Formats: sequence, C-alpha cells, structure tokens
Amino acid sequence: MANYNGPVCRLCRREGTKLFLKGERCYSDKCSVAKRPYPAGQHGQRRRGKLSDYGMQLREKQKARRIYGVLERQFRRYFKAASRTKGVTGERLLQLLELRLDNVIYRLGFADSRAQARQLVNHGHFSVNGRNVDIPSYLVRENDEIAVRESSRDRAYFKNLSEVLGDRRIPEWLTLDAANMTGRVVRLPERDEIDIPVQEHYIVEKYSR
Ligand code: SF4
Repeated sequence: MANYNGPVCRLCRREGTKLFLKGERCYSDKCSVAKRPYPAGQHGQRRRGKLSDYGMQLREKQKARRIYGVLERQFRRYFKAASRTKGVTGERLLQLLELRLDNVIYRLGFADSRAQARQLVNHGHFSVNGRNVDIPSYLVRENDEIAVRESSRDRAYFKNLSEVLGDRRIPEWLTLDAANMTGRVVRLPERDEIDIPVQEHYIVEKYSR
C-alpha cells in the first residue's frame, strides 16, 4: 500500500476526531473536523449505526496508523515486536510508536507535525548520539541525544525555529536544550503521557483474532 498523499483533514473527519496532522492549523478555528465533524463526501452526513466490535477495532487501528503516519505492514511489525516484549502489549505498541525518531523530533518542537518531522529527518538534518540519522522510523532509546546537525543550523528554517524553540510544552520523558538545539530521551514514555485519542486494547483485539 502506498503512502496517503491526499488531503489529511479528510482523515480526521473520517475518524471524527482531531489527529493533529497539520501543525498550527490543528489548534486554530480553521480546523476542518471542528467545523464539519462528519466524514467528507456525498454520504458523509448520513446517520450511522453503532459500530460493531470489528468496526471499533479497525477504526482504532486506523487512527493510530494515521497519527504516526505508518503503513499497515510496518504497523503490524510494531505490533509483533510489542507482543514479544514484557508488559501490556497495547501500551508497549504505543511506546514503540512514540520512540520513532520522527515522533521525537515533533514532540521536542523541532517540527509542527510528524509529517514535517519525517521530511526533516529524511533530509538529514538530525543526529542521534553524534551520528547522522536520516531514517524517520529509527527507534531512539533511553539516554539518546538528538541534535540538529551543525551543518543545518545556519538554514533559515532552523534560524527561525531557534526563536520559538522551547515555547511548546514537551512531555516529561524528554528534555530540550533549546540554546544548543538538542534533546534527550530521559526515560521511556508512560501510557498517560501519550496523548493520542486511541483505545489501544481494540488494536490488540484486532490483531489477536
Ligand atoms: Fe486538519 Fe489538523 Fe483539524 Fe485534523 S486536526 S482536521 S489535520 S486541521
């Protein structure tokens, strides 16, 4: 399956909730799902019955996939990895998704959205523990240091960013040194620190069928 390149607000409207795929716009009154909280298209406003169990499982899985911008096959791999480790599978799944480098870049405030973070990583603007990493799915670990590369700091984007970096609230499992454009993973995220509108137990049920 290819990446979705269409209008992302449609995805939020399909799920009936904000997935925060567009950065600043998501917090403004221009947000489409706030204005039109029903699916796009001719039949979008049709009354819908209660979702079946399978429907709920599918929707929760799609939401998580869309929030993190992960393809189905990749998502299934995360689930397998999560189910092989100790702990609650659903929570471990979300933890793995949170530890993706593109998500961490977004959480630290280096990008407005995960899609933008993915592009910045792809373009080679970041290092992890001093080594250049251009793979958005790279999984960071406890104590890893993430930094904007020296050669990228003179770019207009990062110069402008340096004026506002640190203004955004970042989760407690990360720390940010805005002056040096570096961040650190101080520990792994807990479930209550992962603020996404997903009920992960439905995802576990879906893949356990
Ligand atoms: Fe669009 Fe963001 Fe609103 Fe979703 S939350 S509908 S991506 S503006």
